Amino acid sequence: MLQHPISEVKGVGEKLETHLNELGLFTVEDLLFYFPHRYDSYEVKPLTELTNNEKATIEGEIVSEPALSFYGRKKSRLTFTLQVEQFAVKAVMFNRAFAKKQLQQGDTVTVTGKWDQQRLQITVSQFKKGESKSQEPIQPVYTLKEGVNLNTLRKVIKTALDQNGSSLPEILPEDLTLAYKLPERVQALNQMHYPESRIMLKHAKRRFIYEEFLVFQLKMQLLRKHHRESTTGQVQTYDNDRLTSFVQSLPFELTSAQKRSLAEILNDMKSPHRMNRLLQGDVGSGKTAVAAIALYASITAGHQGALMVPTEILAEQHYHSLQEMFKGRAMVALITGSVKGKRRKEILEAVDQKEIDILIGTHALIQEEVAFKQLGFVIVDEQHRFGVQQRRALRDKGLYPDVLFMTATPIPRTLAITAFGDMDVSVIDEMPAGRKPVDTYWVKGEMTNRVLNFIQKEIDRGHQAYVICPLIEESDQLDIQNAIELYNQLSAVYEPDVSVGLMHGRLHNDEKEGVMQQFADNTLKILVSTTVVEVGVNVPNATVMVIYDAERFGLSQLHQLRGRVGRGADQSYCILMGDPKGEVGKERMRIMTETNDGFELSEQDLKLRGPGDFFGKKQSGLPEFRVGDMVHDYRALETARKDAAEMIMDDVLEQDERYQPLKELVYSDQHILGDVLD
Ligand code: ADP
Ligand code: MG
Repeated sequence: MLQHPISEVKGVGEKLETHLNELGLFTVEDLLFYFPHRYDSYEVKPLTELTNNEKATIEGEIVSEPALSFYGRKKSRLTFTLQVEQFAVKAVMFNRAFAKKQLQQGDTVTVTGKWDQQRLQITVSQFKKGESKSQEPIQPVYTLKEGVNLNTLRKVIKTALDQNGSSLPEILPEDLTLAYKLPERVQALNQMHYPESRIMLKHAKRRFIYEEFLVFQLKMQLLRKHHRESTTGQVQTYDNDRLTSFVQSLPFELTSAQKRSLAEILNDMKSPHRMNRLLQGDVGSGKTAVAAIALYASITAGHQGALMVPTEILAEQHYHSLQEMFKGRAMVALITGSVKGKRRKEILEAVDQKEIDILIGTHALIQEEVAFKQLGFVIVDEQHRFGVQQRRALRDKGLYPDVLFMTATPIPRTLAITAFGDMDVSVIDEMPAGRKPVDTYWVKGEMTNRVLNFIQKEIDRGHQAYVICPLIEESDQLDIQNAIELYNQLSAVYEPDVSVGLMHGRLHNDEKEGVMQQFADNTLKILVSTTVVEVGVNVPNATVMVIYDAERFGLSQLHQLRGRVGRGADQSYCILMGDPKGEVGKERMRIMTETNDGFELSEQDLKLRGPGDFFGKKQSGLPEFRVGDMVHDYRALETARKDAAEMIMDDVLEQDERYQPLKELVYSDQHILGDVLD
C-alpha cells in the first residue's frame, strides 16, 4: 500500500496528482512523510514578552483607516495603526491589497508577523478578524506549491493516514522504543500532522529524528564496512628503510599526533583495501609533512603520487617545499593553468613515462591530457573546495589509488560524523612544540594609527606583517581595487624605510611568485594582500596579521588567515579591524579573541551559521534530513551513531528477526544519501 501511487488516496484526481508530484510526492508513503517545516501556534502575548525580529501574534483595535499604496510592478503595501494595550503599533502588510476591503477602523484583529521592537511595528503575514480564541490549535505549516493549498494538503494527508495508518509497520524493535520512551510509529505520524499538544508533538519529532539518524548512520556505517571489506586497492609494499631515512632527514621530530596519523595512513596503504581517509588538522599542525611522507612511501612502493590543491599560490608553495624535501629522492613537477606550451608538453610526457614521481597541481591535474603511468596515491588538499566530480576525476586517473583528503578547516565533530561517515578520519590535534598561540585583538576602525605604529614596532624588531584588505562580496575586481588603494596608502606611510608589497589574484603567476619570494626572503616587510594568501602560505618570520573589515569574513576564514602567523618561535599578533553592526558579527570577533583552537572555533561557527552554510555552496555533500537538524539535535545524532555501531558489530540486522523491518528500511530508502555516496 505504502508504495502505491498517490492517486490511490481518495480525493486525489489527476490534476492534484500532478501538483503533488511537483512537490516530490509520488507514493502514499511520500505523502505520509511529508512533514510540516514549522508549527505555528497563534498565542497572543503581551508586547513586553515579544522578541525583536521574531514571529509574534498580537491582538488589538484598528485605530486608523487602513491605507493602501502601490509601488513597483504589482506590489502593494497596506498600513494601519493598531491599539495594543496602551501602545500604538504600526501594522504593515505587503501584497495583500484584498485585505483593504476586509479591514476597517474600529475592527478588532489578531495579526501574526515579524515583530520590530524598536519601531513598534509588525510585518503581518497572517491576520484574522476578531479576538483570538484562547486555545488555538497548533497549526502545521507545509511547504506548498501552486495548485496545492494548505487545506487540500491537510485533507489528503488525513485521508491517507486513515486509509493506511493501520498498515504502517513499526520498524524499531521494542527494546529501543521502550528504552528511549519513543511513541509508536503510527501514533507519532498522526501527531506530526495533527498535533494534539506541544508535548505530544515533541515526542513524535523525537521519534522521527532518532529514526532518521539511525537509518542514516546504519547506511553510512554499512557502506564503510562494505568499502573496507570489498574494495580492492593496491597493496603498497613500501620500503621501510628508505622511508625511515627520509623521516630522519626532516629538520624536526614528528609530533605524536603526526606519528599516529602517519601510522594510520601507512596501514591503509599496505592493506589490500583502498584508502579513503580524511586527514584533519588545524593550520600549521603539520599535515603537509605527513602527506609528504606518505607520498614518499608510495614512491618507494613503485608508484606515482598526485597532490591537488585549490589555488596556484598553494600549488607553487607545495611544489617548492616538496622539491626541497625530496631532493635526490624523487622527481617533483608542477602543473597549473599557467604552465603552458613546450614545458607543459614535456611535463605531461614525463608523467606518462613515470619519469616524474610526484605531480602537484590545481584543477589542471584532472584534465584529460594528464595521464599517469602508475598512479598509486592521491592527495586532495582543502578537499571541501573541490566538488565530488573533481575528486572522483582525479581518483580515476589511477587504478584503485589510495586517496587521502586533507583539510585545515577543522570540521566540527557534528558534521564530520554525518558528512564523512563513510570515510576514515585521522586527526592531528596537537601543534608542533614551541608554537605560541597568536594574541588576537579586535579594534575599531578609528584606531588605524595605533595599528600602523604597532606594525612599525614589530618591523623594527626584524619581523614582517601581512595586511589583509577589505573584502567586497562577489567582486574580485573591486577587491583588487581595494588592495591597490590600501597598498598606496601604506606605501605612503612606510616607504622608503620599510618596503611594502602587493599581492592579489590578478597578478601574473611569475609576478605572484616574485612577490611571495621577496616576502619569504624578508626583502618585503609588509605584504598587502587580498585573501589569496589564505591557504597554506608559510613565512615564519611574519608575526603580524592585520585584517581590515574583519566583520566581512567568516570565522573559519579569519582563522585561516590568522594561521599565516604564529609559525615561528616568536610571539605573533592578529589584529581584527572592524565595526560589526549585528550581534553575530560581534560574536565572531569575540570568539576570535578568545580561542586559538580551530576545532572549538568551528563548532562555534557552525552554531552561528548553521550546517547548510558551513562549507559554502552545495558541494559539501551534506545530507538533508527530513526532521533532524545536525546542530540542534546533535545528541540524538550521537546516540544514533553509537547504536548503529553496536547493531553492526552484533550483526543484529542479519541475525535478529526483530530488526527485519529496520533492515528493510535501511536497504530501501535512498533519499538521504545523495552525494555522500561518492
Ligand atoms: P599544515 O599543512 O598542517 O598547515 P605544515 O605541514 O605546512 O602544516 O607545517 C607547518 C610548518 O610547521 C612547516 O614550516 C613545517 O615545516 C613545520 N612542521 C611540521 N611538522 C613539524 C614538527 N613536528 N615540528 C616542528 N615543525 C614542524
Ligand atoms: Mg598545509
